[in-house]
Amino acid sequence: MLMSRLYAPTLKEDPAEAELASHKLMLRAGMIRKQAAGLYSYLPLAWRSLKKIEAIVRDEMDAAGAQEMLMPILTDAELWRESGRWGAYGPELMRVTDRHGREFALGPTHEETVTDLITNELKSYKQLPVNLYQIQDKFRDEMRPRFGLMRGREFIMKDGYSFNATQESLQETYDAMKQAYANICERCGIKALPVVADSGQIGGDTSVEFMALADAGEAALVYCDSCGFAADEEAATTTVAVTEGPGDGTLTKVHTPGLGSIEDVAAFFGFPENGTRKSLALITGGGEPVVCIVPGDHELNDCKAEKLFGSYHLMTEEELVEHGLIKGFIGPVNLPKGIRLVVDENLRASKSWTCGANELDYHYTGACPDRDFTVDEWADLITVHAGDPCPHCGKPLQGARGIEVSQVFQLGTKYSAAMGATFTDEDGREKPFLMGCYGVGVSRTLAAIVEQHNDEQGIIWPVSVAPYEVSVISLDKKGEAFDAAENLARELSSAGVEVIFDDRAERPGVKFADNDLMGFPYQIVVGKRGLANGTVELKDRATGERTDVAVDELVKHVCSLVLPKRS
Ligand code: ATP
Ligand code: MG
Repeated sequence: MLMSRLYAPTLKEDPAEAELASHKLMLRAGMIRKQAAGLYSYLPLAWRSLKKIEAIVRDEMDAAGAQEMLMPILTDAELWRESGRWGAYGPELMRVTDRHGREFALGPTHEETVTDLITNELKSYKQLPVNLYQIQDKFRDEMRPRFGLMRGREFIMKDGYSFNATQESLQETYDAMKQAYANICERCGIKALPVVADSGQIGGDTSVEFMALADAGEAALVYCDSCGFAADEEAATTTVAVTEGPGDGTLTKVHTPGLGSIEDVAAFFGFPENGTRKSLALITGGGEPVVCIVPGDHELNDCKAEKLFGSYHLMTEEELVEHGLIKGFIGPVNLPKGIRLVVDENLRASKSWTCGANELDYHYTGACPDRDFTVDEWADLITVHAGDPCPHCGKPLQGARGIEVSQVFQLGTKYSAAMGATFTDEDGREKPFLMGCYGVGVSRTLAAIVEQHNDEQGIIWPVSVAPYEVSVISLDKKGEAFDAAENLARELSSAGVEVIFDDRAERPGVKFADNDLMGFPYQIVVGKRGLANGTVELKDRATGERTDVAVDELVKHVCSLVLPKRS
C-alpha cells in the first residue's frame, strides 16, 4: 500500500470534542469520522484493524464449537412483545415503522430473533447443544453516546447464543466461551480482568464481564493480586474491620461545635475515620424515611441501596427538618420516631460507636446497639474500595478502572420460556431450552486497544491488530534511497508482511510524526547515508529502539520480529 494513496486525513491538533486518548488518536490518525452523535465511519486504517479483531473473534468462536451465521438487523416488534422487552427496553430501543404500520426495532441484541429462529426446528435433546453467533452492527439509542467508538449508537458486536438441554451442558458452553473471551483479549493485546457480574445460587458465576484496564474506564473495579478475585466496586461485598471507641464503652455526649463532617469528627477525637459512624438519611421509593449507618470511611452503595429501598433519594434540607434530623449530627441514639434504622453488616460486632447525637453540635462516644438504640435491619450497604480486604483471601484489594469489552451470561430459560421455545428431552418431556448469551464489543475493543497502547506521539499497535505491520519510510522523494525503499517494501510484501510504503513527497519530520501517530509497530527508515554502508534503520514503535540492519538481512529480520507476534 502506498501512503500517498491512503485515505487517512490526519489532524495536527487534538480535536476539542474528544476527551479520551483513544478517541483523540483515532480522529487524529484519520481512522474514524463522526457522522452524528454516536455514529462513526470507520476509515481504511480502522477497518483493517477491525477486520483483524473480527478474525481473532471468529477463530476463537469456531475453535470453541460455535457456528457463524447472520440474522436480520431489523427485528419484528411482535418478538419483543412476546419476550416482554418491547416495553422494558425503553427509549434505548430504536424503533421504526414500515409502510404498513408494522413496528420493528433495529436490533440492540438478538435474543428474541435467535429464539424465534430455532423454535419448532430445533426439537430434540439429541441436537443439543447448539451455539450460534454473528458479527453485526447493533443499535442502541444511548442516553449519552460518547468517547468515540466506546459508546456509540451504532456499533459492531459479536453476539452469540447457546441452546442447551441441561445445566451441566450450559455450564460447559459458558466456560468454553469465557475461556475464548479471555483468549480474545489476550490475542488483541488487551489487559483485561474477568469481573464477576452475577453470582449464581450455588456460588459459581453466571455472568462475567471482561474489563479492559484503563484509567478512562467507566467502571470502578477492585481486584486481588494475590488470588485473582475481581469485582465491580458497586457489586463487591467484603468484610471490613472497624475501630472501637474512644472511651470505655460508656455512652457519653461530647460537645463537638461545628464538627459536621466525618473528617472533622475523626480529627477531633484523634481517631481513624472508620472509628466514626456515617449516617445518611433518605426517603425510600415508597416514601418511608430511613437512616442508614455505615463505617465512617466508607460510602453508601447506590446499587445496594436501590435494591433495598427502590428508587430512593437522600433527604433534602427541608425533609431533614421535617423529620427532626440535623445535618452533620444524625445518629442512631434518640432517633426521631418513625424513622427506620438500617445498619451496615460490618458494624454488627461493634459495641462502642462514635456517632451523631441528633442534637446540634453534639456527638456520642461509646454508643452500643441494643443497649442505647435498636437496629431495625442489618444489611450490606457499603461500596468496597481499594485497601479493603479481599473477600476470598483477605489480602488488600487494589483499585482500577475498566472498560467493559465483553460479557458472558447464563440466561437460563428467561427467553425460551417467555417465547415458548421448547425441545423434547431424553425422558420424552417438553422443556424450555437453557440459554446462554455471549457478546463482544468489536468496535469498543478497537477503542480499548488504543486506550491501552499509546504515548505522546500516537498509537502503538500490537502487531496482531495493527492496520499495517510495517511501514517503510523513504527519506528522499526520489533517487537511490526512494528506489531502495520501494524495493524493500515490495520484498517485504512478497514475504507476506503487511507493508505500507511512505512514498509521499513530505519532509522526513512530517513522515516520522505521521508514522508514529498511526502507530505501525515497525518502521524502516531508508536514507542515502545508511545505504552507503549497506544498512537501513529499523525502529520499534513500542520501545523507540532504533537499530541498523543490513539491507540483505532486512526481510528475514523483519519476518522474525513480526510473524511470531501475529495472533
Ligand atoms: P454498557 O454497560 O457499557 O452499556 P452493556 O452491558 O449494556 O454495555 P452488552 O449488552 O453486554 O452491553 O453488550 C455486549 C458488548 O457490546 C459490551 O460488552 C460492549 O463491549 C459492547 N457495547 C455495548 N454497548 C455499546 C455501545 N453503546 N457502543 C459500543 N459498544 C457497546
Ligand atoms: Mg454487558
